[in-house]
Amino acid sequence: MIENNLEKKFLKIKKFFPFFNKNNVIYFDNAGTTQKHIKVIEMSNYYYLNDCANIHSSDCSLSLNALNEYKNCKQSIAKFLNCNDFELFFSSGTTLILNQFVLIMEKILNEGDQILLSYYEHSSNFFPWIKMKDKKKLKFLYLPYKNDFSVDYLQLEKLISKNNIKVISLALTNNNTGEELDILKIKSFLKKKLQNPLILLDAAQAVSHTKIDLKQLDIDFLAFSGHKIYGPTGIGVGYINHKTLNKYNFDPILLGGGAISWCDDEVSYKLKPFPWNFESGTLNIEAIYGLHQAIKFVDNIGVENISNYEKFLQKFAILKLSKLKNIKIYNKNISSSIVLFNVDKVFSQDVASYLSYKNICVRSGDHCAKFLKNIINVTTTVRVSFAIYNNREEVLKFIKEIENGGDFLGGIFR
Ligand code: PMP
Repeated sequence: MIENNLEKKFLKIKKFFPFFNKNNVIYFDNAGTTQKHIKVIEMSNYYYLNDCANIHSSDCSLSLNALNEYKNCKQSIAKFLNCNDFELFFSSGTTLILNQFVLIMEKILNEGDQILLSYYEHSSNFFPWIKMKDKKKLKFLYLPYKNDFSVDYLQLEKLISKNNIKVISLALTNNNTGEELDILKIKSFLKKKLQNPLILLDAAQAVSHTKIDLKQLDIDFLAFSGHKIYGPTGIGVGYINHKTLNKYNFDPILLGGGAISWCDDEVSYKLKPFPWNFESGTLNIEAIYGLHQAIKFVDNIGVENISNYEKFLQKFAILKLSKLKNIKIYNKNISSSIVLFNVDKVFSQDVASYLSYKNICVRSGDHCAKFLKNIINVTTTVRVSFAIYNNREEVLKFIKEIENGGDFLGGIFR
């Protein structure tokens, strides 16, 4: 058996996730959402029990406590992502933020502009662009892929050299194969052509699996959700590079309380500076308290350590799964936290339902990547996605259940 020191350390971590004390479930749908660390739950409750007041609308000490926690949370995120806290804004999640990013870019998009996407993109980074495509007559280009479903950088270099891309809008880490994009490599292709497209990264999947250093990446936009990094639902973080903000002076899409600094009449008003103008309305304050704990938890352990451990589990699962007959694995050659597969002649949802019956939670379907079929040639798959609290024993149980078949799979395997 492959030895792994991280496993010994991480086996102890599971007890800090109260969900597992109550539920005897093997949870392999971490790309859907993650379970919550005890401190995340405690601090979200703490806000309601101790500091419950609105952040911007009151001068009482409760409000100031909440405002402090808002600031501290942003500082922790800025340290975690290596950016400035004044480049960050809170919103409800990746989906809303990506929609906002596409809409604020409308003013700089012209007919025929080229947008680089991938067929693997999540709907929330695809459909806002499809809507904008209609409005602005944009042209989409797609990341090229190799037969093993990994990115083909040779072809990508050619694609970049032949075109004039206005915006690159991609998931930093794919939520289907788990592949991590090499943004610095992509930027080196752009340099050769002296091209300077805006770069938007959907980091919803990346945030808890891929080390992000925004100073090094020097991209324009980034978004992630709290719930995929052991944090609460309903909270997301948007990043806009201060140089990009200064250059384009983007207007927010939503206006309301907290965003307006001055108004004279119906037409004359002045917006507060970023990030206040992008945070109209009451924020999800308890989730900010919780997210702060989630970020600290992951930052203390180190995303690289988490990622190495998940890759170790993925390799182990692929090794075991490859020995079974009738299994097609789509991301065999991609080192990541995900195993994407199908059981021959069994509908993916039947596999997932069968595993659920055995208390193993996996995901089936298109995983919100509606165009995934353009690359892997099937419309649905089964997805196992790992997190820090998973282990090899769970993988072996999962393999055993797949091997044994049962209500749905028995006909195939017996
Ligand atoms: N992009 C990717 C790559 C994702 O994995 C997800 C969540 N599954 C999203 C976007 C959307 O995130 P949310 O539902 O939190 O807005």
